[in-house]
Amino acid sequence: MSDAPVIGVLALQGDVREHVAALAGAGADARPVRRREELEAVDGLVIPGGESTTISKLADIFELREPIDKRIAAGMPVYGSCAGMIMLATEVLDGRPDQRGFDGIEMTVRRNAFGRQVDSFEAPVEITGVAGEPFHAVFIRAPWVERVGADVEVLGTVTDGPAAGRIVAVRQGNLLATSFHPELTGDLRVHRYFVELVRAA
Ligand code: GLN
Repeated sequence: MSDAPVIGVLALQGDVREHVAALAGAGADARPVRRREELEAVDGLVIPGGESTTISKLADIFELREPIDKRIAAGMPVYGSCAGMIMLATEVLDGRPDQRGFDGIEMTVRRNAFGRQVDSFEAPVEITGVAGEPFHAVFIRAPWVERVGADVEVLGTVTDGPAAGRIVAVRQGNLLATSFHPELTGDLRVHRYFVELVRAA
């Protein structure tokens, strides 16, 4: 048996394939998760980018909300990127009234925060715990974090441009979230960080 941690990617909607590939490249045994039994078999979970309102709806339809909340409460590491960050926030601004996240990170995020004119942009982000050059972060209709609870560590802020200073990477215990999409850049450092987190858990 290899010592590769088994990491699932919540496969309800969004860029599942890209995360599976990035996790595999970062040393995980990566697989899509759509059913309860699949969730039970993983050591960690990624919630991909996509559309949080849709992921929220499908989490109920696929009866995955309660099992995921339970695994989170039991300490399973979860990494959410973009829509996944929104799904991990305890409070969402500019969300749809019926969207609901998991019992995740004590923080307030604002959906589509960077402005509708600039749907997507790229900016350097320095991430605590990720060595080397600043991360070249890709933002697509991304949220930012407006408030964090006392137990939340801010790992990254935008370093340059009009959004400078905005919080875009956070961690609370085994829960990790980024506003941006490292799965689209070929830079595996964030996925490696998460794989190590899962290994350590
Ligand atoms: N704006 C999307 C949402 O609200 C997130 C966009 C993304 O994941 N790229 O869920």
